[in-house]
Amino acid sequence: MSEKPPLEIVLASPRGFCAGVDRAIQIVERTLARFGPPVYVRHEIVHNRFVVEALQGKGAVFVEELDEVPPGVPVIFSAHGVARSVTGEARRRGLLAIDATCPLVTKVHREVERHRAAGRQIVLIGHAGHPEVVGTMGQAEPGTVVLVESRADVATLAVGDPGRLAFVTQTTLSVDDTAEIVAALKERFPAIARPRREDICYATTNRQEAVKAIAGRCDALIVIGAPNSSNSRRLVEVASRAGIGQAFLVQRAAEIDWPALAGVTRLGITAGASAPEILVDELIEACRARYAVSVTVLTVTVEDTVFQLPAELRAETA
Ligand code: SF4
Repeated sequence: MSEKPPLEIVLASPRGFCAGVDRAIQIVERTLARFGPPVYVRHEIVHNRFVVEALQGKGAVFVEELDEVPPGVPVIFSAHGVARSVTGEARRRGLLAIDATCPLVTKVHREVERHRAAGRQIVLIGHAGHPEVVGTMGQAEPGTVVLVESRADVATLAVGDPGRLAFVTQTTLSVDDTAEIVAALKERFPAIARPRREDICYATTNRQEAVKAIAGRCDALIVIGAPNSSNSRRLVEVASRAGIGQAFLVQRAAEIDWPALAGVTRLGITAGASAPEILVDELIEACRARYAVSVTVLTVTVEDTVFQLPAELRAETA
């Protein structure tokens, strides 16, 4: 009988679900319990197919726009947040809208409001097309918020009055890349106002720190997460920057390219903020089928953040 080759798995911690994702999923489940199916959700509640399919199985219907929502049923806005035009449209149509926007995204929306009220133009650092970026840009009139994605964008950025300028960021960016873009902004626009508290969220920051911490202890890293999950994609980039030879983003164990892992004896594993732990367990089991696995966990910090549910769903807690 041939022996399985050894594989040391180094689990990054924290990993997986953050408080905003946990809250958003609870909002869908409690809305289903309160109103019964179907419950409509505008956009994937969080960027994870496994989560979305599980909620579909319970009666959630995912749509991209409000005109797909029939009257008389609740509609939930995803954790990424929505533009004011969307909340306005829901009001006009008399829809029962329930907001699952992560409170840390809402914080950025409030900053945009504050700067707008102060007559400042706002630079948003983020990725074009991501729903959070669309929602944040949509907190102010068109043209008030301009998007920069890179240092090169800063060099060509045209602003109205450099003395009345502020920046905010997407919550799920690379901490290091963003610091470089912020430095470039400050160099070009020394008076630019910055967020009172960091916009990149605690969960994004901690998951990137955890990947950096295990970097010296693994030959390859697998990130469990969706291809449209910003924070998961950043973890792959952070791994490459930190010197991990190979880093892969997979949604589930079934997607793993095992031949690509030939020769790897120390495998790092982490998961994006929208990926449930059950998918990490599934991956470890898939490794056990091929290797003699040992698992160590490297914890950089312990998270205890919990966000309250919206008031209308809190009474359901019992
Ligand atoms: S990744 Fe951060 S901003 Fe996004 S839902 Fe989680 S805590 Fe909120």
